[in-house]
Amino acid sequence: MAESELVFAPLGGVGEIGMNLSIYGVGGGRQRKWLIVDCGVSFAAEEHLPGIDLILPDIRYLIQERRNVVGLVLTHGHEDHMGALIDLWPRLNVPLYATPFTAALFEARRLSEPGAPKIPINVVPLGSRLRLDPFTVDFISVAHSIPESNALAIRTPLGTVVHTGDWRIDPTPLVGSRTDQAKLSALGAEGVLALIGDSTNAIRDGRSPSEADIAKTLAELVRTAPARVAVTTFASHVDRIRAVADAARAAGREVVVVGRAMERVVQVARETGYLDGVQDFRSMEAYGYLPPEKVVALCTGSQGEARAALARIAENEHPEVALGSGDRVIFSSRTIPGNEKDVDRVINGLVARGVEVITDRSHLVHASGHPRRAELLDMIAWVRPKILIPAHGEALHLAEHAALARSAGVAEVLVCRNGDLVRLAPGPAAVVDEVPAGRVYKDGRILVAADARTVASRRRLGFAGIISVAMAVSEQGALVADPEVELIGIPEFDGAGEPMGEIALAAVEEAFAALPRPRRRDPDAVVEAVRGAVRSAIAERWNKKPICHVHVLVV
Ligand SMILES: [Zn+2]
Ligand SMILES: [Zn+2]
Repeated sequence: MAESELVFAPLGGVGEIGMNLSIYGVGGGRQRKWLIVDCGVSFAAEEHLPGIDLILPDIRYLIQERRNVVGLVLTHGHEDHMGALIDLWPRLNVPLYATPFTAALFEARRLSEPGAPKIPINVVPLGSRLRLDPFTVDFISVAHSIPESNALAIRTPLGTVVHTGDWRIDPTPLVGSRTDQAKLSALGAEGVLALIGDSTNAIRDGRSPSEADIAKTLAELVRTAPARVAVTTFASHVDRIRAVADAARAAGREVVVVGRAMERVVQVARETGYLDGVQDFRSMEAYGYLPPEKVVALCTGSQGEARAALARIAENEHPEVALGSGDRVIFSSRTIPGNEKDVDRVINGLVARGVEVITDRSHLVHASGHPRRAELLDMIAWVRPKILIPAHGEALHLAEHAALARSAGVAEVLVCRNGDLVRLAPGPAAVVDEVPAGRVYKDGRILVAADARTVASRRRLGFAGIISVAMAVSEQGALVADPEVELIGIPEFDGAGEPMGEIALAAVEEAFAALPRPRRRDPDAVVEAVRGAVRSAIAERWNKKPICHVHVLVV
């Protein structure tokens, strides 16, 4: 039997922000048992991946190892940690574990997706212990930008790993947990082999401001608003929802919830007790008859999402909610890299309507849910790991986190990549193997491999269009009728005003005529000659080569 080892492999989320999925293995060779932590998505940028909604981790390795998987544990309810479950869990069918809010939010998300399969979740109380032999998993509450974020202490016969998940330190959150320093320090005293940690803000010095400070600013901005106020934030940020509710109540305003994702979270937060004591919110229909100084609209769309509430309000296309001159919109959020253009479009739309827009550039209206450098050092001091592996970050964040850990005296610091199999014990930490890893695209309702040609061809189509040619050729090798030429996504005229359709048609006829008669009876030869000629003729005028499809019918 192979020697027993403790191994770690990220299948997503290392070298990128998003799509978190990590696996831990105990045992040797084929006897190895696996624990999966998180199963998240990334969001695709439209200009790079036209028509793709989501990016999911490639889990073919886990499908193959399915029988050895003892369970899948969710650290928290953000999409980059659980968003791939609806699509991927049916292929794994392994036991699933989450704390109450995460489980309820997942169920609400699942029900909102037509045709989503039933996915049973085992609900784990906060701070509890889960035995998934040979692993024992302790849930440790940590502060983050959603209720119930958990670090996991994963105990194994070869040592204990602390997997931080997404966390920060906030001594004064509104409804979320505080980071359980006592439990983390106790683990450190017991001995921790490895710390796998959030690197998102490893390039930022100091500490993040507290949610309590953000709430103060929001209260002031709502109190001083001359007319209507709308606040947008991440839909799952219950601390922020509570801060807006408190600000509204203090100013004698009603809260109107605008956007389905926000409604869903509000409902789940009420069910799980995270909005206890908070006044009832009004439905969207109430917005129209409330006086401007009596309303706060809590909106989805802080990332400029085209279909979300705020983008529609900015275009004056929302059925219930309108904003105009003298009204105030607060972005209680940060623009996620890649969304800048979309957010700017919404802000410009609002400003053009005379709306005052307030963002975190000028006011303390947002704090990140991830640890800055002083907080990372606290975690290292509490846990005192022998090994540190930076996770949840792009290459720069990982490198900065690694350098910080070295400077703090961590004995072994290892930077790895998605698909690396890292041995944590026995012996020094090292990348010892690779496991299949990669990306899968969600294209409409279908999952396609990232290296499939679909998206690449779609990009080419978007860049240079397509020409379709249909020709009927007799057995004797003569054209039976005029060829049909159709251009899609190609300029109608060239620079000299000549129709591109006629240029293409002339190229078809010339290419055909130039073929020796016996070759004209060979459809493959005709297709090849015509395609080449059409693409060259168009490229000569346009300096772009479109895709060209030629259909030859022999009659
Ligand atoms: Zn995350
Ligand atoms: Zn998160």
